[in-house]
Amino acid sequence: MGELAPRDVVSRSIFLHLQKLSESDPNRASDRVWLDLRSIPPEKIQRRFPKIIQVCQKWGVDVFKQPIPVAPAAHYWMGGIVTDLQGQTSIPGLYAVGEVTSTGVHGANRLASNSLLECLVFGAQFASLGKSFQRHDESISTARSATKAIQADEWQKDEAVLERIHQALPVLMWNNAGICRDAEHLESAIAQVRDWRYGFDRLSVTRTLTSLEVGVTLSLPSVRIGQSIRRWAETQNLLDNAYLILRSALFRTESRGGHYRIEYPHTDPNWQVHTLVRGEDWLRSQPIPTQEFGD
Ligand SMILES: Cc1cc2nc3c(=O)[nH]c(=O)nc-3n(C[C@H](O)[C@H](O)[C@H](O)COP(=O)(O)OP(=O)(O)OC[C@H]3O[C@@H](n4cnc5c(N)ncnc54)[C@H](O)[C@@H]3O)c2cc1C
Repeated sequence: MGELAPRDVVSRSIFLHLQKLSESDPNRASDRVWLDLRSIPPEKIQRRFPKIIQVCQKWGVDVFKQPIPVAPAAHYWMGGIVTDLQGQTSIPGLYAVGEVTSTGVHGANRLASNSLLECLVFGAQFASLGKSFQRHDESISTARSATKAIQADEWQKDEAVLERIHQALPVLMWNNAGICRDAEHLESAIAQVRDWRYGFDRLSVTRTLTSLEVGVTLSLPSVRIGQSIRRWAETQNLLDNAYLILRSALFRTESRGGHYRIEYPHTDPNWQVHTLVRGEDWLRSQPIPTQEFGD
């Protein structure tokens, strides 16, 4: 199927090709794979890919005259927070739509354009939520009772730690949970993420924010402190997501769609299940009928 093969197959082929080149000759470590649009009539490129033209121009690549350097990408997971068809999660009043959810519209791979359609279709369900959504919102706003002031210099040391995690985490994930995975790398990445989470929990900013009672309003002395809190929350979410991805990838001892285990390169019919994560428990769902997976 060449370049029209499923995206995990194309990504893996590029990845393995580049790996083979750099192993055979270290000088070729920076070699690239190219996407050549020159066989397509220029007016068609202009009509169909205006954004690609723009982005390439920004990086000094003229798509009409030269091939485009491309890199393989990994979808770290297919799935997310389980919701019903109205977007309701298992927490009353909490709804989720889009990339963050597991609604059942994706199989072991993401089909082209399914993701954006999912946002539209499931987002439209919110029109029918009406009163129950509003009532929950009101109960939160009436709970606000006290204000807590945050000191400006309290978190400076912590900010450096958050920044270090922010920079190192994507690299760790790409190297250990990217296009090709194996137990050894997954286990060492899990140990690293556990370490970071342990350190994160002991930061002074974490202790302050997690000791706040629900409904307390924060008084922030500067915009910068507000940004720090956002960075803190993002870091916590990234660490949680990284941990879920790594543990789930280690749990599934087969290859299926975007998940490729070097030691288990084949799809195993016994694994035709969803992975369910509850707290620290990794479970298998009931077997899923074949037709749900598509191709
Ligand atoms: C490279 C790439 C190519 C893709 N190609 C396609 C395609 O061809 N067809 C297709 O259908 N799908 C495609 N997808 C998938 C599709 O783009 C996504 O599934 C879709 O955009 C998800 O939309 P979303 O609103 O759920 O999430 P997002 O678009 O990720 O939106 C989440 C928003 O929340 C914001 N946010 C995050 N944290 C916080 C916070 N703490 N507070 C406030 N805001 C926050 C983020 O800044 C972001 O704006 C592609 C995705 C990628 C990465």
